[in-house]
Amino acid sequence: MNTQKTPAKQNKQPGIEARMDPKPEVIKADYKGAGKLNEKVALITGGDSGIGRSVAVHFAREGADVAIVYLDEDIDAKETQKMVEAEGKKCLLIKGDVKKPAFCKKAVESTVKKFGKINILVNNAGMQVPQKDPKKIDDKQLEDTFRTNIFGYFYFANEVLEHFHTGDSIINTTSVTAYRSSPNLIDYSSTKGAITSFTRSLATNLAKTGIRVNAVAPGPVWTPLIVSTFDQEKIKSFGSETAMERAGQPSELGPAYVFLASDDASFITGQVIHVNGGEVVNG
Ligand code: NAD
Repeated sequence: MNTQKTPAKQNKQPGIEARMDPKPEVIKADYKGAGKLNEKVALITGGDSGIGRSVAVHFAREGADVAIVYLDEDIDAKETQKMVEAEGKKCLLIKGDVKKPAFCKKAVESTVKKFGKINILVNNAGMQVPQKDPKKIDDKQLEDTFRTNIFGYFYFANEVLEHFHTGDSIINTTSVTAYRSSPNLIDYSSTKGAITSFTRSLATNLAKTGIRVNAVAPGPVWTPLIVSTFDQEKIKSFGSETAMERAGQPSELGPAYVFLASDDASFITGQVIHVNGGEVVNG
């Protein structure tokens, strides 16, 4: 069943979840925490909304305190903070630009200062600018997309490794576009391919330390990214191309991150979980 009505396009990226209608589902009402992340501290980039918000709330329900990094969407960040606190956990808000290495360093330091440690990094911030004509992808767009979607992931990974120990883990958000292509998102899908390769190489580099690195590859998911970047037509039919003929909800992504972050995944590193409504991508 397609849960979407006729949602409106937003004109600024990052989009605002508070202004979306229908609202994304953050966590399923019957999701039961099992203490899988008790005593853990997680930093989630892009944690104010969409998939990142869902991860923050799932992690909190599983017992973790969280820090969320976001660009400038205070209204969404404060709402996520409330949701995490409603789970009885703490939520540190960190506003800034993941394109800047000094900011990434400071964000990790603030998290360690607040909570005394850091155990999980979810690299999830992302941007995209749809463009049919590859010649129209100018240097500014190329730089912004690569700096946000992959440079930022490197910066955060390098910073957290200063503090990580055996059992800690990194989870990167890649995309189905890295596996099946996306003709109007050439630069974006290139960064997602880079994230998948980054995940695999960093995982094997760190395997002997007991620090695991994995990724989640979402298919179409109903989030602010969608309403702030695609045109009205695409927004209306968003997700209809999947085998399930609908977009996913963030609530359907969060549990995959919980699994990868928890000890249930202790023998899993360098892998990608495909949460995409049935597109078989074999990678
Ligand atoms: P979203 O708009 O809720 O999240 C994007 C986040 O990135 C925002 O929280 C924003 O603050 C953050 N961000 C963007 N640029 C930033 C910057 N320069 N500095 C700091 N933060 C910045 O949308 P979402 O769909 O939940 O996106 C989360 C991730 O999921 C992204 O990496 C996206 O590429 C990926 N993804 C989404 C879909 C989908 O269909 N929604 C599909 C595949 C992959």
